[in-house]
Amino acid sequence: MNASGTDVVIVGGGLEGVSAARVLASRGVSVTVLERATVGSGGTGKSSGIVRCHYGVPSLAAMAWKSIELFDNAEEVLGEDVGFRRSGYVVGVGDQNAAALRANLEMHRGLGVDVREIGHDDVKEMWPAAYTEDFAAFGYEPFGGHGDAYSTAQAFAAAARRDGAVIRQGAPVAAIVADSGKVTGVRLADGEFVAAGTVVLAAGPWSAALAAPLGIDLPIRAMREQILIIDPGEYVGDVPVLSDLVSLQYVRAETGGKLLFGNSDLSEPEWADPDAYRNGAETAFMERTAARLEHRFPGLINAGFTGGYAGCYDVTPDFNPIIAPAGVAGLVIAAGFSGHGFKISPAVGELVADLVLEGDSLDPQVPAADFRLERFAEGKPLTSLNPYIGAGEMR
Ligand SMILES: Cc1cc2nc3c(=O)[nH]c(=O)nc-3n(C[C@H](O)[C@H](O)[C@H](O)COP(=O)(O)OP(=O)(O)OC[C@H]3O[C@@H](n4cnc5c(N)ncnc54)[C@H](O)[C@@H]3O)c2cc1C
Repeated sequence: MNASGTDVVIVGGGLEGVSAARVLASRGVSVTVLERATVGSGGTGKSSGIVRCHYGVPSLAAMAWKSIELFDNAEEVLGEDVGFRRSGYVVGVGDQNAAALRANLEMHRGLGVDVREIGHDDVKEMWPAAYTEDFAAFGYEPFGGHGDAYSTAQAFAAAARRDGAVIRQGAPVAAIVADSGKVTGVRLADGEFVAAGTVVLAAGPWSAALAAPLGIDLPIRAMREQILIIDPGEYVGDVPVLSDLVSLQYVRAETGGKLLFGNSDLSEPEWADPDAYRNGAETAFMERTAARLEHRFPGLINAGFTGGYAGCYDVTPDFNPIIAPAGVAGLVIAAGFSGHGFKISPAVGELVADLVLEGDSLDPQVPAADFRLERFAEGKPLTSLNPYIGAGEMR
């Protein structure tokens, strides 16, 4: 049996694990990422990559805003283009949610986010094929858009390696090892022990099973979500992302002139096994999407599906992540990103590094307490200050 050592072991080479590795390595920490398959092969590889600051939770809006700076300057900061397109982001709501939208925009402005309210004519100009009459109000973020989560993860991993981090792929962790209430390292499936004083658990939907033997109950479940790719039948350009909180869907430009459609109605979760879920999109989902598509884009008369797939969100009861120390000394959880972890991933790396090195967040706009595990047991979920009726899971 081999043994090796490092200051920090990160379990999981998804976006959040390699983002944390990048920041920790840049701060001079010896880090080893242990990834059971390959970097980005989990939920990261399925991400729609939408970037927006439109959250009802101030800390998340602040994290998204700070993260945009990295996406926007990726070539300079990471040394490569990670596929971020600043196409803009439009969110539209119906009558019953107009006041909540305006309150959210006000909150965002207070955080320094560049956001404004726009009118129907502005949206028609951006999306000429859209039907907009059933929207009552729109928010617009010129800095929003969409990125490539897989490329971003690879770039985070490369940057971490440049600063000395070790990224081991094909290295499944069998157990996190603790002694006398303190983490001592992890044991790999082949028996190797990797000693570390700190373990960051960033294994997405697989995190709960790794925490359970330590007596830690992580309320994270895998939820299957389907994505459809559509040929709009005409040139639509690099349209802004449209988050349609009336029909509960989102749309963004996809490469090759296509459009990517995702579902925003999370009221009836489809729980799944992250190791054995159906990857293809189902006919019923395609029919539902076709109806929403026809309603929202009556101008796209030649549109048709060209493909689809499914991925798993790692969902917590309040649809927000757990980024916090938990259970035994030296263990930090970074999991449960509930389908919105791409846009905040650079800031997650900073927060994890702060927790590991300082024991608290160094960013006053991002209170560590927001993401503590105990909030569930205390009955104090992290929820929107201005929730939307009918789209409650929009954080
Ligand atoms: C369909 C879909 C669409 C999405 N769209 C968006 C979006 O538009 N915008 C947005 O902001 N977010 C979006 N997300 C969410 C975002 O992509 C995720 O929150 C983020 O990628 C999760 O990263 P992660 O590192 O937490 O998890 P993962 O990427 O799942 O990484 C976890 C890693 O842990 C590894 N692992 C598991 N068990 C072990 C073990 N025992 N030992 C070692 N390694 C292990 C896995 O192999 C995996 O690579 C979407 C997600 C999905 C699925």
